[in-house]
Order: sequence, then C-alpha cells, then structure tokens
Amino acid sequence: MKITFHGAAQRVTGSCSLVECGKKKILVDCGMIQGDDDAHELNREPFPFDPKELDALVLTHGHLDHVGRTPRLLAGGFRGPILTHAASAQLAEIVWRDSVRLSVYDGEPLYTDSEVDQVAKLIQPMKYNSAQEIDGVNITLRDAGHILGSAHVVIEHKGKRVMLSGDIGQGNTPIIRDPTREWDKPLDAVVIESTYGNRLHKGRPETVAEFRDIIKQAVEQKGMVLIPAFAIGRTQELLFQFNAMVNSGELPRVPVLLDSPMAERVTAVYRSHRECYDKETWKMLDSGDPPMNFQGLRELVSSDESKSVKKMAPPAIVIAGSGMCTGGRILHHLKDFLGRESTTVIFVGWQGHGTMGRRLVDGVEKVRIHGQDVKAKANIKTLNGFSAHADQAALLEWAKHVPGPPKQWLCNHGEEDAAAQLATELNQAGFQKATAVEPEQTFEI
Ligand SMILES: [Zn+2]
Repeated sequence: MKITFHGAAQRVTGSCSLVECGKKKILVDCGMIQGDDDAHELNREPFPFDPKELDALVLTHGHLDHVGRTPRLLAGGFRGPILTHAASAQLAEIVWRDSVRLSVYDGEPLYTDSEVDQVAKLIQPMKYNSAQEIDGVNITLRDAGHILGSAHVVIEHKGKRVMLSGDIGQGNTPIIRDPTREWDKPLDAVVIESTYGNRLHKGRPETVAEFRDIIKQAVEQKGMVLIPAFAIGRTQELLFQFNAMVNSGELPRVPVLLDSPMAERVTAVYRSHRECYDKETWKMLDSGDPPMNFQGLRELVSSDESKSVKKMAPPAIVIAGSGMCTGGRILHHLKDFLGRESTTVIFVGWQGHGTMGRRLVDGVEKVRIHGQDVKAKANIKTLNGFSAHADQAALLEWAKHVPGPPKQWLCNHGEEDAAAQLATELNQAGFQKATAVEPEQTFEI
C-alpha cells in the first residue's frame, strides 16, 4: 500500500490523499483550497493524478475543505463510485450547490449545477461500521465525532490496514457521538489530522457557561444579538444551546431567528439523521424534547423575511452566515445594528486573516458594508471553545485508543508548526513512528 498527500499537507484545507492498494486507486477527500490569495487558481489547476484511473472516492465528511473540488473530477473522466456516510452525502450536495455560486472567478464558476447533479448520482451512501468492497479493497467508516456523518476511513487490502482520520471531534460535542473508541482489528498506519496539534482549547463547559451569560446580559439590556455562524455544525450546536436555555427558563420569550437558507437546509439534514445522535440526544427525543427545536425559533426563508428583522424591536437573537462575515445575510444585520451600543455580536468560530470578522474581533472602529461605512459601536464578544476539532490533548488521547500498535503515524491537515508539534508529541509519548507529511510526499505502508 502507498499513500500520497496531494492536499492538506502543512495546511488545513484542500484535503486530498491517494491510497494505492496494488493497482487499485482510492482517493480520500477532494477538498477546496481556501484562504490563500491564489486559492482560485490553485482550485482550477489539473489534479496531480489521473481522475479516470480512480477506482473510488471516499469522503470523510461534508465540509467544503474535504469535498469542495469533487465535481471537478468529472472533467478528468472520473465516473465513481463515491463512498461516504448517508448524512455526509446530503451535506456534500448542499456544499457543492453553494460553491457553484461562491466559486465564481473571472465570471466562471469552478463547476456547474449540472456537474453537481452528475456527481451526486455517483454517491453510494454508507453506514458506520459496515464494510464496502471495491475490487478486493475493503472500506469501512467509523464515527469521527466532528460533524454529522463525519468518519474515520479504514482501508484494508491483503491483510494491511490503514486509517485516515479525517477531522477528529473534540468529544462532548452536542447531538453527535464522540469519536469511536471501538476498533475491531489492529491498524498498520494512521493518517492523523493536526489542525490543533500545537494548541489546547478552552473547555466546552466554560465556553457554554460564558455563552449563556453573554446572551442573558444582552437580552436583559434589550439589545440585538448577532451571531455570525457557519452553516454546518456550529449553527446546530447553537440551536441545541438555545433549546437548553429555553428549557431552563434562562431565555424567556425572546425570538431566535435562523437567517441562513443554507443553515436551514443543513439543520433539516441534522434533524433527519437520528442514527448519528449520541445517548444524551436520544434521551431528549424520548422525553419529547427535540434538541434543535424550541418555542421562539423562527427560520427566515425569504429575503423579505430577512429584511423585516431591521424593523424588529430588540431583544432578538439572529444567527446568520457567513461565519466570518465575508458575505451572506449577516452583512445586512451588521449594517443595521453594528452601530448601536446595545447590540452584541458574538463570534463563535475562528476568524480568518483579512476577513471582516477578524477586523471586528481585533477591535476596528468602523467597517465598510455594501459601500457604506458602519461604526462598530456594538459589544463584540469572541468565544473560542466551541471547536469541532480535537485539541492537542484530545488528539493524543484519541491516538491511545487506536489498536495496533500502528508502525506509522502520518500527521497531515495542520499548518507546518501544528503538524510538526503533534509528530513530536506522538514520538515522545512512545508512538512509532510519527512524521509531519510534506506536500506530494508518498509513504509506503
Ligand atoms: Zn471538517
């Protein structure tokens, strides 16, 4: 077996790993490259392998940086199959449709809606823990605890087994189960993500408590609360937290407005895939308390509904995209409410360099929205403890439960320092032998 890292080596986007099992070629993830000035060009470059030679594509989960370039494989002659969890299949399609719109560069989208139609037909949805065979290669998905449907991928060929972690959840993420600790067979090699290979998160319980306090205070002051949030994962966790606050009486009669058509579609997928829920969520369902539904929640579908928020009398809570304020309906709400001292803006996710979200977090006095200067008088809060990724301690703990012992640990999906630091920590903890991978590097298993 051989693994080549065609993406997410020394970086956190563009996941794309080629696993060769004899003559069979399995690609794991085909993600969008994001964040770089030349990302548009990089995403349009030909793949460094021949898409028509692929025997299958496996998608670990539905995030853009893991699935975003998939429709581009078609032009190179790829004809499937695409294996992924049934929930990830639905999320991936939502993400691809969104990308058709967002990826336009020089008047050209990265791919078209009709290519998305074609690629969606190649999907063979899978369940966790049941193997699928592709010409002598066995593929199994295990719960990764990152977002709905997220999976570690185990590839088995002629007695050798390699696992690609995909993104690994932090544990105690609401709604979904934690990363699995139940493995049946020993593994020879593991590709481990290292997004936070050199960092520790603030604890989730403290973050949730802080979040509740901020909301309570803002509501008491009769202010507007704006929460820029990513559509997949974070929005659903926020709904879960608001449901808990309504149940405990901490959030009486305050409208919570979900104002993102994409997040609404994703939430519908989250609501329908109950087989992915953890025990606590099942307990809530059994007691008649749907975890992402509560009195006061309104989903704003049309743009007219979205525009009506402007005329509302606060307090009200608005969850809208995009998560870094680079576009989407949140911009209209910021234009209307950022200039008021009574408004609270809560950032619940990482803000990339150069984004409006980052500028607000950094405390700028004004921002320019739709050609208009808007003073940033609102109270800006940042919460960093909602991460869907395992931090360094959680990654090491996760690694301890992997059976083998694997003889190779390959750290990808992390900036250079993060991947290198995780490799060092793994080696020091006695794992044999950990390496931070380089772009286009190939490893023999
Ligand atoms: Zn992810």
